[in-house]
Amino acid sequence: MEPVLVLAHTEAVGSLAKPALEALATALALHGEVTIGLVGAKVQAGAEQVACSGAVRLLGIQGDAFGQARYSTDATAGEALCRASGAAVVIAPATSRWARALPGVAQRLNGRVDTHATAMSIENGVPAVTRWFYRQRMEAVLTRTQRPWIVLVDPGCVAPWSGVAGAATVEMVPVEAPATRTTVLGAEAAQAGEQTIRPDAKLLFVAGAGWTKKQADGAAHAAEAEQVILNFLRASQASLGGSKSLVDVSGEGEAVLRFMTHLNQIGQTGSTPRHAKGLSTCCHGEEPHTVGWRFVHQRRAVNLDANCGWARGKADVLYVADAFAVMREVNRLITR
Ligand SMILES: Cc1cc2nc3c(=O)[nH]c(=O)nc-3n(C[C@H](O)[C@H](O)[C@H](O)COP(=O)(O)OP(=O)(O)OC[C@H]3O[C@@H](n4cnc5c(N)ncnc54)[C@H](O)[C@@H]3O)c2cc1C
Repeated sequence: MEPVLVLAHTEAVGSLAKPALEALATALALHGEVTIGLVGAKVQAGAEQVACSGAVRLLGIQGDAFGQARYSTDATAGEALCRASGAAVVIAPATSRWARALPGVAQRLNGRVDTHATAMSIENGVPAVTRWFYRQRMEAVLTRTQRPWIVLVDPGCVAPWSGVAGAATVEMVPVEAPATRTTVLGAEAAQAGEQTIRPDAKLLFVAGAGWTKKQADGAAHAAEAEQVILNFLRASQASLGGSKSLVDVSGEGEAVLRFMTHLNQIGQTGSTPRHAKGLSTCCHGEEPHTVGWRFVHQRRAVNLDANCGWARGKADVLYVADAFAVMREVNRLITR
């Protein structure tokens, strides 16, 4: 196996987050010589965290300029670490920082980059990347001859490396931060109000447009729907997803679920999150929606329609029932 570099940026506190440890686990499973390259305002704490992982070298680039997410500084650091390590294969977590900077690094090094990898393995003696195509409809395993080969591994695909911390000596790679035109004053969350997207939650709760439709009494009950869903999310700490129809209606400013935005959309033109379980409510289960459920292990749905899309092999369990009644009862049971 060729030498591998794992690229990771440290968090504000100096340690490594879960996606970085997942990239490390992916690299170690290839059984090659692994170097870890750390970037951040400070890297010592992160280095100590992975000191006992079996990596042969720990490289670092640190300084205030490298603590901030910025293409120019992240690409400079990534390039310098790739050159210093001499690695043929570079594995990094697909964080927004690396996803933005590493394709440019591949270009600078005359290498290649692959994104959205879900696994790596050795096929016929060479490293291979597994990834999905056509919005998670086809899975492929591919190899490349060009080097360095940079691979961005999607978070949540492998168990993160875990082990005890230890003493670490980091080889600092001297690099000057490029001149930047922007000054970072602080960070502001993109979403105002209630935080409903929780990638690490065990359960994905999906709300569909049915929550806003006229019900058996001939009236819509959007305000009640909002309350029932919020109560469930607060009690269960589930992550909230939505169908395209529902987030589109919310986006038009209709009085529906005010905490629902396009960021919540699951599906072909939305996201494909990874959760152990999923519960779909008032959502028809059409293919462009359910393709976003590819990585949800156990799928259940509540729909009034026994002939909805979920009934056609898309869900493990379909409850033919009124979601208002079901979720009111679930809330009563989990909050009593
Ligand atoms: C190119 C393309 C890309 C697309 N991408 C996406 C995508 O990324 N994500 C996505 O979601 N969609 C996507 N769509 C749209 C998708 O095909 C569906 O139109 C959409 O998912 C329907 O949303 P829905 O199931 O919430 O609404 P509806 O189809 O209106 O279904 C509402 C459901 O609620 C049920 N219901 C109503 N009241 C109750 C109740 N009290 N209890 C239980 N059930 C109830 C009804 O029986 C019905 O099945 C895409 C479409 C195209 C053409």
